[in-house]
Amino acid sequence: MSELELFKHHISSPQKVVITTHHKPDADALGSCLGMANFLLKLGHEVTVVTPSDYPSFLHWMKGNEEVLNFEDPKEQPLAIEKVKEAGIIFCLDFSCPKRMHGLLPYVDKSKAYKVNVDHHQDPKDFADFRYWSTAAAATCELVYELIVNIGCKHMIDKDIADCLYAGIMTDTGGFRHPNTTKNVHLITAELIDIGADNTKISRLIYDTNSINRLKFIGFAITRRLVILQDLKTAYFKISKKDLKKFDSQTGDTEGLVNYALSLDGIHVAALFTEREDGIKISFRSTDDVAVNKFAAEYFDGGGHKNASGGKSQLSLDETTEKFEILIKQNYTSLFTQPELVHEKN
Ligand code: 5GP
Ligand code: MN
Repeated sequence: MSELELFKHHISSPQKVVITTHHKPDADALGSCLGMANFLLKLGHEVTVVTPSDYPSFLHWMKGNEEVLNFEDPKEQPLAIEKVKEAGIIFCLDFSCPKRMHGLLPYVDKSKAYKVNVDHHQDPKDFADFRYWSTAAAATCELVYELIVNIGCKHMIDKDIADCLYAGIMTDTGGFRHPNTTKNVHLITAELIDIGADNTKISRLIYDTNSINRLKFIGFAITRRLVILQDLKTAYFKISKKDLKKFDSQTGDTEGLVNYALSLDGIHVAALFTEREDGIKISFRSTDDVAVNKFAAEYFDGGGHKNASGGKSQLSLDETTEKFEILIKQNYTSLFTQPELVHEKN
């Protein structure tokens, strides 16, 4: 029996299923979880989505959002743990490095459930029984769609599932702008729209529902917290805890900020350093020839995609940006002028 047939066999009879994703889920993470959850519910499974943390309110419209358990909410954690313990199948979507489950990790680790990993990130760790994985995919939602089609269940994708999957593909391609926007992406989203995905509404719900605080925060960050190193083709934002507090920042409010730095003419590497409770969270972005994932992995305990990666630092905010500037200078040649050294072998 092939791995795909074995997977099909596992989901052929109703089971207790838990679906999880990475800490601070984005639209692709939550969209793939709820897209898969709505599909499995239709197959008769008892499904619980457990997220390792909360997520932005601009994702709350997805079908099934109300039932999601947030592991970091003390009121929801006991039930989340119970669901993981009882689960016969656990889906891990949109991450390949178990550490990204944060506090949920030991419970998933201990579970003897049949584990499924669907993802599109580099360097997957071998922790699942069935891995449906491709870095060629723009989004995990794209892979969830393909997986459902490949097991012969395309007819079961309804409007709710299509909405969730569309959201993940739309955001992980940067609104169909990044180099990962392939023909396949357009073909799949065309299918999803045909099924009923409300593309205009989803775009508005995700991109055009700013709070005034968030808009003011973006304005403040661009005028006061943007450092431009034109000679190094690099620009970055440096956001302190105090800045976040001043604008009553909510989960998701810093999302997309880094792209303003990358939008500058002549800038090919952008970063966002955000001071959080547990250290400095870093987002890296780059234009097509420049690979920031290796840089993130080598110096900032992170990784990700060639043009969109992340990392962390336990130094202070000032020390972290100082370190970053030194490293960009030191790695200038390999980052910018000899792209073959840092190119992905796809
Ligand atoms: P973001 O900047 O939106 O938080 O993350 C962009 C991408 O970087 C994510 O899709 C993920 O692939 C990757 N990423 C973010 N943080 C980490 C991290 O700590 N470790 C790894 N390996 N990848 C990360
Ligand atoms: Mn993704």
